[in-house]
Amino acid sequence: MVTEDRTAVSEILLTDLPPTRRQTRAAIAVLLIVLVGFAAVVPFSDRPVVALNAFFPSLDAIVLVTDLITAVLLYAQFSISRSRSLLALASGYLFTAFIVIPHALTFTGAFTPTGLFGAGPQTGSWLFIFWHVGFAVALLGYAISKDAKHDGLASEAPVGREIGWCAATVVALVIGITWLTTAGEALLPPIVLDGSRLSPFVIYPIWFTILITAAGLTVLLIRRRSVLDLWLIVVAAVFIAELAFSGLLPTVRFSAGFYAGRVFSLITSSIVLIILLAETTWLYVHLARSNDVLQREQHNKLASMEAMAALIMHEVNQPLGSILTNVETMQSMLESPTPNISEIREIAADINRDDVRASEVLRRIRTLLKKVPFEVKPIELNENVRQAVAVLSGQAAARQVDVSTAIGPPLLPISGDRVQIQQALVNLIVNAMDAMSEIPASRRRLTIQTSLRGEFAEVAIADAGPGIPPDKLQGVFEPFVTTKAHGMGMGLSIARSVIEAHNGTISAHNQPRGGAVFRIRLPLRKS
Ligand code: ADP
Repeated sequence: MVTEDRTAVSEILLTDLPPTRRQTRAAIAVLLIVLVGFAAVVPFSDRPVVALNAFFPSLDAIVLVTDLITAVLLYAQFSISRSRSLLALASGYLFTAFIVIPHALTFTGAFTPTGLFGAGPQTGSWLFIFWHVGFAVALLGYAISKDAKHDGLASEAPVGREIGWCAATVVALVIGITWLTTAGEALLPPIVLDGSRLSPFVIYPIWFTILITAAGLTVLLIRRRSVLDLWLIVVAAVFIAELAFSGLLPTVRFSAGFYAGRVFSLITSSIVLIILLAETTWLYVHLARSNDVLQREQHNKLASMEAMAALIMHEVNQPLGSILTNVETMQSMLESPTPNISEIREIAADINRDDVRASEVLRRIRTLLKKVPFEVKPIELNENVRQAVAVLSGQAAARQVDVSTAIGPPLLPISGDRVQIQQALVNLIVNAMDAMSEIPASRRRLTIQTSLRGEFAEVAIADAGPGIPPDKLQGVFEPFVTTKAHGMGMGLSIARSVIEAHNGTISAHNQPRGGAVFRIRLPLRKS
């Protein structure tokens, strides 16, 4: 389980993400700029520049901050991937972050003329050498161990403890080196001859560091795979340029080349940090976006569940309402001293029919949701209209609506799903009755007409109500459009989808003399 989680997370790690073409181009561009800068400074590398003693500790302060943040971010990546290579690299950055502290404090002429901690003239330069050797070794360590077989898991020890051990080792190393370069300064070969000149010996430690870095660079070039590898190649190249300016090219301190070296050291220290920050921000944006999409999806799911619940309620309410009306009528009939048994039997049959219709409706909704194509069977539209009127006759009587039908030509053969079309008709008729509930009973007149219109069979359902509010006329077939206190605005939308699924059309108009008329047109069955 843990391994699976790691695999999922490692897909977002810098050590695993392959560089995009844009990133590769950006890396090459940075390398070219550094190369041009390097070539531009080389001819003037020995040109003396004013000695700015405060410049170096300020630079160290920047390196301390950037390398410390880089180390923390790399340790964070290590805590997810548990790869030894990242642990080595992070510790390398931690080492450079810490070693610049004694480097700044012991720098001659910065805090005291000779430097703190009883530093000698060689202390700062040797700290500089150790700083660079340490980083080059970490870089090589990263390059060598990055694809090693056991790189996946450093060990089963808790991440915090492992990082703690590394940090403690780094601190001990820095203290040891500081002690060696201050108390043991006399034992070390001289690197600076006087305040400004470098000793010829300097080239050995510098070449040594360059060789380690070059080895790391070569391994990285061969095994490069991730975004981090790509940018570490740039870091290694700039680091070599920095080393060249720190003892090979300029022979004097405080020269143009000497300062250029320090500027390069700023670049090496900030590249990985910038990339880590940029990638983390990009990742954050990416995650925020996908979170947004997920939330929207969830919202949509909820909305469609709501729509489905509304649909079921809407469709089942109708037969349930009829059953209730019939039961009430039956109860009042049973209370009479001489109940009319044949009428009660008829009402019971109605209840039975409504119950069958309700379960039929539910079955159809299920079919609709399953996206199973509806049944296509020959239907006679006039017969279908008659049935719908019969279904609602009890309700019409109860609501004092006078229903008149003008069933057109003897036969209107169409094909489709009988129950679905009847459901659409029932919806329109109930809506018409609802529309007339506020007008005097004497004017509640509902006309249902069928006719032949070219290749189509038409049903028109007209009422004497107030008509559809003009602002609703456009969107009346949209789901959730309702003007009723307890309406759901689903009936017309369902009716439209049913009719359109049968290749028909449905339209709504207001009549010039008042009231609304809904027209359904369905294609006549061929043959
Ligand atoms: P509901 O009946 O739940 O409101 P419908 O989709 O069946 O949902 O109807 C949507 C709206 O269309 C109704 O609220 C009403 O404003 C309007 N409407 C439908 N039929 C008529 C009609 N015959 N006369 C006037 N307005 C109507």
